[in-house]
Amino acid sequence: MYFIDPHIHMVSRVTDDYERLAQMGCVAVSEPAFWAGFDRGSAEAFRDYFRQLTSFEPQRAAQYGIQHYCWLCINAKEAENVSLSREVIALIPEYLKLPNVLGIGEIGLNKNTANEATIFAEHLDLAKRHDELVLVHTPHLKDKYKGTRMILDMLRNEPSIRPERVLIDHVEEHTIAPALDAGHWVGMTLYPTTKCTPQRAADMIERYGSDRICINSAGDWGPSNPCAVPAFVMEMRFRGHPESLCRRIVYENPIAVFSQSRRFGFRAPA
Ligand SMILES: [Zn+2]
Repeated sequence: MYFIDPHIHMVSRVTDDYERLAQMGCVAVSEPAFWAGFDRGSAEAFRDYFRQLTSFEPQRAAQYGIQHYCWLCINAKEAENVSLSREVIALIPEYLKLPNVLGIGEIGLNKNTANEATIFAEHLDLAKRHDELVLVHTPHLKDKYKGTRMILDMLRNEPSIRPERVLIDHVEEHTIAPALDAGHWVGMTLYPTTKCTPQRAADMIERYGSDRICINSAGDWGPSNPCAVPAFVMEMRFRGHPESLCRRIVYENPIAVFSQSRRFGFRAPA
């Protein structure tokens, strides 16, 4: 089955992962800008990272027939440094012209601090001024519920960003309903240790349906499985769900949400 991984950090993965993804049916990936595992020392480091996301990764993916898209921002962990964050936000507009950029992300909160909220709001303002889609990271574990509520409140206060142009990522059982009820798209992340498993994701599909829901691996430099989306499809098959439902969740839904970006030039396989 063809699929799209709507959230995966390919800069952290080896080329063999592109090959394995292609062999399993992956035809496109979307890569949000992310924390490198250490705080970067200057805005110039982000300039290099944005070049990697907009130039090198699309070429590496194309060797395996995978279309590569990306999102730009400074992530919530580094948003504690407000002056650096503002320098990075000022860099972003020149990259918004590049053909594989889908919008601003993954922005959001990490520890739900005042500085993080300030920089989240400034990213939303950037998205508003440039009419860009937004991809939102929600915090981990004990900070998730409160952080998701704060994010949804801030989005509600920005009515010029239409809710269907925002994807709220890493939702779990206690945060999926408020995000869907607010009119947003949501992403469930399949991680080996935290976040979701294929079984929990399938349970949530059975409870909430498949409207405005995507599945991703969030494969990165930590423990993660870049081939987690096919594991979800297998779980759905074991439960007797039709292929059409699986295809909708892992292929048609990412196309639907990303098609709202004027730069999403996805070419469906023949
Ligand atoms: Zn991520």
